[in-house]
Amino acid sequence: MLITHDTECALGLLVELLNTAPEVAGAEQLPDVAALDAFVVRGNISEVDSVTAVDLAAVHRLRGQLRDIFTAPSTRIAAELVNALVAAVNATPRLTDHDGHGWHMHYFAPHAALADHLAAELGMALGLILMAGERERLRRCEAPDCARVFVDLSRNRSRRYCDSRTCGNRMHVAAYRARQRSAGAADDVAVVVG
Ligand SMILES: [Zn+2]
Ligand SMILES: [Zn+2]
Repeated sequence: MLITHDTECALGLLVELLNTAPEVAGAEQLPDVAALDAFVVRGNISEVDSVTAVDLAAVHRLRGQLRDIFTAPSTRIAAELVNALVAAVNATPRLTDHDGHGWHMHYFAPHAALADHLAAELGMALGLILMAGERERLRRCEAPDCARVFVDLSRNRSRRYCDSRTCGNRMHVAAYRARQRSAGAADDVAVVVG
Protein backbone atom coordinates (compact mmCIF):
# COMPACT_ATOMS: atom_id res chain seq x y z
CA MET A 1 0.00 0.00 0.00
CA LEU A 2 1.34 3.39 -0.92
CA ILE A 3 0.91 5.35 2.28
CA THR A 4 3.09 8.27 3.19
CA HIS A 5 4.44 9.08 6.60
CA ASP A 6 2.08 12.07 6.76
CA THR A 7 -0.93 9.89 6.13
CA GLU A 8 0.29 7.49 8.77
CA CYS A 9 0.56 10.34 11.26
CA ALA A 10 -2.92 11.59 10.35
CA LEU A 11 -4.35 8.09 10.81
CA GLY A 12 -2.67 7.89 14.21
CA LEU A 13 -4.27 11.16 15.20
CA LEU A 14 -7.63 9.96 13.85
CA VAL A 15 -7.48 6.83 15.98
CA GLU A 16 -6.49 8.83 19.01
CA LEU A 17 -9.41 11.19 18.47
CA LEU A 18 -11.96 8.41 17.94
CA ASN A 19 -10.77 6.64 21.08
CA THR A 20 -11.45 9.71 23.24
CA ALA A 21 -15.22 9.24 22.87
CA PRO A 22 -17.16 8.31 26.02
CA GLU A 23 -18.75 5.27 24.34
CA VAL A 24 -15.22 4.00 23.69
CA ALA A 25 -13.28 5.11 26.74
CA GLY A 26 -16.06 4.84 29.33
CA ALA A 27 -15.84 8.58 30.00
CA GLU A 28 -15.29 11.61 27.79
CA GLN A 29 -11.55 12.00 27.31
CA LEU A 30 -11.92 15.49 25.86
CA PRO A 31 -14.18 16.94 28.56
CA ASP A 32 -12.92 20.51 28.47
CA VAL A 33 -10.82 23.04 26.61
CA ALA A 34 -7.69 22.10 28.57
CA ALA A 35 -8.00 18.47 27.47
CA LEU A 36 -8.51 19.57 23.87
CA ASP A 37 -5.51 21.84 24.12
CA ALA A 38 -3.40 18.93 25.38
CA PHE A 39 -4.67 16.83 22.47
CA VAL A 40 -3.52 19.52 20.03
CA VAL A 41 -0.08 19.68 21.64
CA ARG A 42 0.25 15.88 21.81
CA GLY A 43 -0.83 15.56 18.19
CA ASN A 44 1.64 18.24 17.14
CA ILE A 45 -1.12 19.90 15.12
CA SER A 46 0.34 22.83 13.24
CA GLU A 47 -1.11 26.30 12.76
CA VAL A 48 -3.47 26.10 15.72
CA ASP A 49 -3.29 29.02 18.10
CA SER A 50 -5.67 28.70 21.00
CA VAL A 51 -8.78 26.58 21.37
CA THR A 52 -12.13 27.57 22.81
CA ALA A 53 -15.37 25.97 23.98
CA VAL A 54 -16.69 26.46 20.45
CA ASP A 55 -13.81 24.36 19.13
CA LEU A 56 -14.50 21.71 21.74
CA ALA A 57 -18.14 21.31 20.67
CA ALA A 58 -17.13 21.25 17.01
CA VAL A 59 -14.47 18.58 17.63
CA HIS A 60 -16.98 16.42 19.51
CA ARG A 61 -19.33 16.70 16.53
CA LEU A 62 -16.54 15.95 14.08
CA ARG A 63 -15.51 12.89 16.07
CA GLY A 64 -18.94 11.37 15.47
CA GLN A 65 -18.73 12.12 11.75
CA LEU A 66 -15.29 10.53 11.50
CA ARG A 67 -16.51 7.47 13.35
CA ASP A 68 -19.37 7.12 10.86
CA ILE A 69 -16.80 7.07 8.05
CA PHE A 70 -14.50 4.70 9.92
CA THR A 71 -17.33 2.22 10.52
CA ALA A 72 -19.32 2.80 7.31
CA PRO A 73 -20.94 -0.35 5.94
CA SER A 74 -19.51 0.10 2.45
CA THR A 75 -16.75 1.93 0.65
CA ARG A 76 -19.31 3.86 -1.37
CA ILE A 77 -20.99 5.20 1.75
CA ALA A 78 -17.61 5.99 3.32
CA ALA A 79 -16.57 7.81 0.13
CA GLU A 80 -19.72 9.91 0.08
CA LEU A 81 -19.20 10.86 3.71
CA VAL A 82 -15.56 11.80 3.08
CA ASN A 83 -16.58 13.92 0.11
CA ALA A 84 -19.23 15.73 2.13
CA LEU A 85 -16.89 16.25 5.06
CA VAL A 86 -13.96 17.74 3.15
CA ALA A 87 -16.23 19.85 0.93
CA ALA A 88 -17.95 21.36 3.95
CA VAL A 89 -14.65 22.66 5.33
CA ASN A 90 -13.28 23.94 2.01
CA ALA A 91 -10.30 21.60 1.99
CA THR A 92 -7.47 23.33 0.18
CA PRO A 93 -4.52 21.15 -0.89
CA ARG A 94 -1.22 23.02 -0.76
CA LEU A 95 2.39 21.95 -0.56
CA THR A 96 4.44 23.14 2.38
CA ASP A 97 7.82 22.44 3.99
CA HIS A 98 7.19 24.23 7.28
CA ASP A 99 9.34 23.72 10.36
CA GLY A 100 12.03 21.74 8.58
CA HIS A 101 9.65 18.96 7.52
CA GLY A 102 10.06 17.78 3.97
CA TRP A 103 7.54 18.80 1.34
CA HIS A 104 4.12 17.52 2.19
CA MET A 105 0.51 18.37 1.55
CA HIS A 106 -1.73 20.32 3.88
CA TYR A 107 -5.42 20.00 3.10
CA PHE A 108 -6.94 22.38 5.64
CA ALA A 109 -7.81 25.88 4.50
CA PRO A 110 -5.38 28.52 5.82
CA HIS A 111 -6.48 29.75 9.27
CA ALA A 112 -9.15 27.06 9.50
CA ALA A 113 -10.70 26.48 12.90
CA LEU A 114 -9.43 23.37 14.68
CA ALA A 115 -12.36 21.09 13.81
CA ASP A 116 -12.25 22.18 10.15
CA HIS A 117 -8.49 21.65 10.12
CA LEU A 118 -8.94 18.14 11.51
CA ALA A 119 -11.87 17.39 9.20
CA ALA A 120 -9.74 18.20 6.15
CA GLU A 121 -6.63 16.33 7.29
CA LEU A 122 -8.27 13.27 8.82
CA GLY A 123 -10.95 13.13 6.12
CA MET A 124 -8.28 13.08 3.43
CA ALA A 125 -6.31 10.40 5.28
CA LEU A 126 -9.45 8.25 5.30
CA GLY A 127 -9.93 9.08 1.63
CA LEU A 128 -6.43 7.83 0.84
CA ILE A 129 -7.18 4.54 2.60
CA LEU A 130 -10.33 4.18 0.49
CA MET A 131 -8.41 5.02 -2.70
CA ALA A 132 -5.88 2.32 -1.87
CA GLY A 133 -8.69 -0.21 -1.47
CA GLU A 134 -7.60 -0.78 2.12
CA ARG A 135 -10.77 -0.08 4.08
CA GLU A 136 -10.48 -3.44 5.84
CA ARG A 137 -7.51 -1.99 7.70
CA LEU A 138 -9.90 0.23 9.67
CA ARG A 139 -10.58 -2.06 12.60
CA ARG A 140 -12.18 -2.34 15.94
CA CYS A 141 -10.26 -4.07 18.73
CA GLU A 142 -11.29 -7.71 19.10
CA ALA A 143 -10.86 -7.82 22.87
CA PRO A 144 -14.43 -8.43 24.08
CA ASP A 145 -14.54 -5.55 26.56
CA CYS A 146 -12.71 -3.03 24.39
CA ALA A 147 -14.37 -0.62 21.96
CA ARG A 148 -11.22 1.10 20.77
CA VAL A 149 -10.48 1.38 17.08
CA PHE A 150 -7.16 1.19 15.26
CA VAL A 151 -5.72 1.20 11.77
CA ASP A 152 -3.90 -2.00 10.97
CA LEU A 153 -0.79 -0.96 9.05
CA SER A 154 0.88 -4.34 9.43
CA ARG A 155 2.10 -5.88 6.21
CA ASN A 156 -0.20 -8.89 6.35
CA ARG A 157 -3.19 -7.12 7.92
CA SER A 158 -3.06 -9.46 10.87
CA ARG A 159 -3.44 -7.10 13.79
CA ARG A 160 -6.42 -7.84 16.03
CA TYR A 161 -6.00 -5.65 19.09
CA CYS A 162 -5.76 -1.96 19.72
CA ASP A 163 -2.71 -0.05 20.71
CA SER A 164 -3.51 0.25 24.38
CA ARG A 165 -1.02 -2.56 24.93
CA THR A 166 -3.02 -4.07 27.72
CA CYS A 167 -5.45 -5.52 25.19
CA GLY A 168 -2.91 -7.55 23.23
CA ASN A 169 -1.21 -8.73 26.43
CA ARG A 170 -4.46 -9.43 28.18
CA MET A 171 -5.73 -11.55 25.32
CA HIS A 172 -2.50 -13.48 25.17
CA VAL A 173 -2.76 -14.14 28.87
CA ALA A 174 -6.38 -15.27 28.48
CA ALA A 175 -5.38 -17.62 25.69
CA TYR A 176 -2.50 -18.91 27.81
CA ARG A 177 -4.79 -19.55 30.76
CA ALA A 178 -7.31 -21.30 28.54
CA ARG A 179 -4.56 -23.56 27.25
CA GLN A 180 -3.41 -24.24 30.81
CA ARG A 181 -6.94 -25.12 31.84
CA SER A 182 -7.56 -27.38 28.90
CA ALA A 183 -4.25 -29.08 29.64
CA GLY A 184 -5.48 -29.75 33.16
CA ALA A 185 -2.72 -27.68 34.70
CA ALA A 186 -3.10 -25.72 37.91
CA ASP A 187 -4.55 -22.24 37.41
CA ASP A 188 -2.37 -20.53 39.99
CA VAL A 189 0.30 -19.41 37.55
CA ALA A 190 1.38 -15.87 38.31
CA VAL A 191 1.00 -13.73 35.20
CA VAL A 192 1.78 -10.04 35.09
CA VAL A 193 -0.69 -8.13 32.96
CA GLY A 194 0.83 -4.97 31.53
ZN1 LIG B 1 2.57 20.02 8.04
ZN1 LIG C 1 -8.39 -2.97 22.79
